Amino acid sequence: MPDELIARLRRFHDDYFPQHQARFRDLVDHGQHPTTLFIGCSDSRLVPYLLTGTGPGELFIVRNVGALVPPYDGSHGHHGTTAAIEFAVLNLKVTRIVVCGHSHCGAMKALYEEISPEAPNLARWLDLAREAALPVQVSPEALRRTEQRAVVLQLERLMDYPMVRSRVEAGQITLHGWYYVIEDGEVHVFDVRNGGFVPASRSEHSGTGPYAPADSEACFNEIDTRLHPG
Ligand SMILES: [Zn+2]
Repeated sequence: MPDELIARLRRFHDDYFPQHQARFRDLVDHGQHPTTLFIGCSDSRLVPYLLTGTGPGELFIVRNVGALVPPYDGSHGHHGTTAAIEFAVLNLKVTRIVVCGHSHCGAMKALYEEISPEAPNLARWLDLAREAALPVQVSPEALRRTEQRAVVLQLERLMDYPMVRSRVEAGQITLHGWYYVIEDGEVHVFDVRNGGFVPASRSEHSGTGPYAPADSEACFNEIDTRLHPG
């Protein structure tokens, strides 16, 4: 069987790298200074660099099944995602945190299905999105809503990280809840003020909205109400 990957590795080194060598040299000499932490689902159809038109040194990326944010209290044990958030905020001093979910997410669909007993870690991991699931028969519409609710749930959980909350409140970090619709090639942006997702083509900004101390609690309470109606 031909080893397709070795051919690709050689192509990167021989074709791509020479054209961008100076950029990589600069990133080595002066270190990385990405301004955005991108928390995205591992799904192969989600390609952060393509969506944002970014290249080397611009995104600090952590991806996992479902684009989920573990609770700050560390109760779930070792967490690469939590470590990445701490590093990005405290060391890299990023100014934006993006949480990016997407349509047709296998993780969100799995919330409505039986998980194999051979995947106890996956089952436990998905608990982080369980609150986003709806008590309804699964349908394309229910899945879409679940996928979007999961993004908002992770933003809420991010605000439980003291070092994130204090910086958001101080205006040093903006939060961005994104929902990528694969079939449309468009990201929908969560807007705190209207409590919904707006297509990027119609959105005035890429973030959840300007933080205002006076109405922040109301905003996040409103999200909470939407997540836990009644
Ligand atoms: Zn996914």
